[in-house]
Amino acid sequence: MANKIQKPRGTMDIFPSDTPIWQKIESTARDVCRRFGFGEIRTPTFEELALFKRGVGEVTDVVQKEMYTFTDREDRVFALRPEGTASVVRAIIENGKTSDTMPLKYYYLINCFRYEKPQAGRSREFFQFGTEMFGTKDASADATIISLADTLIKELGIKGITLHINSIGCPNCRPKYREALVEHFTSHIDELCDTCKERLKTNPLRVLDCKSQICSSIAKDAPATVDYLCDECHDHFEALKAHLDAMGIEYKVDTRIVRGLDYYTKTVFEFICDGIGAQSTVCGGGRYDGLMEQLDGPALPGIGFGMGLTRIILAMKESGAGQIDENKPVLYVAPLGARAVSKALSIVSTLRREGVYAECDISARSLKAQMKYADKLGAKYTLIIGDSELDSGKAQLKNMEKSEQREIEIDNIFSEIKEA
Ligand code: ATP
Ligand code: MG
Repeated sequence: MANKIQKPRGTMDIFPSDTPIWQKIESTARDVCRRFGFGEIRTPTFEELALFKRGVGEVTDVVQKEMYTFTDREDRVFALRPEGTASVVRAIIENGKTSDTMPLKYYYLINCFRYEKPQAGRSREFFQFGTEMFGTKDASADATIISLADTLIKELGIKGITLHINSIGCPNCRPKYREALVEHFTSHIDELCDTCKERLKTNPLRVLDCKSQICSSIAKDAPATVDYLCDECHDHFEALKAHLDAMGIEYKVDTRIVRGLDYYTKTVFEFICDGIGAQSTVCGGGRYDGLMEQLDGPALPGIGFGMGLTRIILAMKESGAGQIDENKPVLYVAPLGARAVSKALSIVSTLRREGVYAECDISARSLKAQMKYADKLGAKYTLIIGDSELDSGKAQLKNMEKSEQREIEIDNIFSEIKEA
């Protein structure tokens, strides 16, 4: 016998018993975006590999180790998107949106693909809610993006979450910082992991992001970017903090936050949730003022974040906010006999057109089995109709919760249900 086909490692199947929490997050995210004036952007699931090499960064883990790349029938090299920002930047440039009224404010709900070791809160296909704002370099834009994420997290009922912010400077102040950082790590070169020995040459900031115990303990005493900021970056960071204070958004300055992708400048931030295990960053973002130019567009400053939905679900469940109301029928119609089946179908179709969730038997079950099924579905009312009910035009409407019933005109069912 052939091997049973299974889903690819690190992917998931989501059934109707679990989709309501996803839908709740998605609809809340869309509504928060509406209130902030962000519109939805949709871009392709795959792009030219070169986009991510240049957009995310050649020497990042994402590009070096985690990409799903493939060659099509005409030998073009593509990759499944590992994140959303690079595609949005490409789309903005390609479609001439750079001459739209600024700032551009977009959001997306997408699947992303990274070849990683699957574990709780880390999968190979994962889902992200992300926002992007282009065309404003003011700290009030950074505060607005953070406020959007904060609003959503609070509205989803997530507790025990902390906002960590940092500034990693700009191309003016980074070189001096980089020097100090290289000096620090070089004095510990023998203790660093092999990847970090390499990172120290190609991208020393990445060492700060290493998850290995020894590297992160060496990173603890590393110089902090905030001590090396130029005047402009310093003032920007101070303004951001003042804006967050004014909005009543609590934060912690965390000099170890540098973010995993290459394109960040100035503000970086993470929302970290204790109690959901090692993968505790539910949302990460920051400013990327050089990215648009890096992809051959005009010099438009940008800021945004990506929020991992699986981790948001873990955080909601941890906060006791994971229970979503089940979809239960308002009415279950139990027909007895062929004539009654037609009538039952006509009743439920009318109710459904009017926006009411109604069910009737479509499996030719016995009355006993039908009532058991109606109970399992959690129907609020049931209506049994047989030949005598059809002849008289009257039937018993039973309230299942109260175990009460009363006679109604079958043709008045919609107004009866509406009243009840
Ligand atoms: P991490 O350090 O956890 O690998 P990252 O810095 O690679 O995160 P980003 O590229 O900033 O993550 O993505 C934004 C968010 O998307 C993360 O904060 C996280 O919530 C989520 N995320 C990233 N990778 C995965 C994954 N493999 N599975 C599930 N969620 C993920
Ligand atoms: Mg990662």
